[in-house]
Amino acid sequence: MSLMMKKRYESLDERKRTSESMKGLVFSEKHRKNLSIAMTGRNLSNETKLKLSFINKGKRLSDEHKKKIGLSLIGRSTGRKGIPVSLEFKQMMSDRMKGKNHPNFGKHLSVETRRKISEGNKGKKVSDEVRAKLRLVCKGEKSYIYGKKLSEKTKNLIRIARMKQVMPFKDSKPELLIQSKLINEGIVFEKHKRLLGQPDIFIEPNICLFVDGCYWHNCVTCVGNKNYPDFIKFRPFVDNYVNYKLMMDGFIVIRLWEHDIINNNDELLNSLINSINYIKQRDLSIVPVV
Ligand SMILES: [Zn+2]
Repeated sequence: MSLMMKKRYESLDERKRTSESMKGLVFSEKHRKNLSIAMTGRNLSNETKLKLSFINKGKRLSDEHKKKIGLSLIGRSTGRKGIPVSLEFKQMMSDRMKGKNHPNFGKHLSVETRRKISEGNKGKKVSDEVRAKLRLVCKGEKSYIYGKKLSEKTKNLIRIARMKQVMPFKDSKPELLIQSKLINEGIVFEKHKRLLGQPDIFIEPNICLFVDGCYWHNCVTCVGNKNYPDFIKFRPFVDNYVNYKLMMDGFIVIRLWEHDIINNNDELLNSLINSINYIKQRDLSIVPVV
């Protein structure tokens, strides 16, 4: 067989005949391995590569076949692994996928597909650099919401979706302090209740307790009006809106500053417990506080 492989065909006809005679032949595993060994390290001309690519075009592989290919590729180097890529090359690859060239351009992905993509991305680590870039991509005119007027219905949907997200992912230090105090006093509470503004702690019947971080809520006492990003400067307005809305619905809103809890926690926590007990005893839920 190895002789045959090296044979140069005299005419196209002869080549075709050989190819015809080879069709339908089933090779043993060993033989296929040998053939593959004979092919490794060969440099195919661009012309040949093009031809090979044409042979395979339009072929539909069965799921089983795809699986086999996938398995055979596991652990194999791509040939470019570890080789640094030039900036121009990166730019070129990135440009290739931009706008109309992107496989998802103009497509509306189903909820199911988006969920799958999101599942696939879970647990992936994103460097700070990439994060900063992503943030810039979505800013200003490029934001999907820029210049749009959202209907009340859409706004409500966003609000509901936002309530379901637990923010932040970890309880902060002052929150933990309050939580342990409440547990000690035997007061039952709920964390990150799905209400407007997502109260850090909710106590039946109607107490919404917010523990405002000094940085995120623009605490003037601690950090002053330094060069904060705009969204933090607006934070007090958002907080006021949340207070007002909740109060209109009959909730009692208590807001505590992070610095107050950490600096003078015993005194403050005791008076907090007193207030909570007072509200619970009188059941102030009936009277909406305006
Ligand atoms: Zn503060």
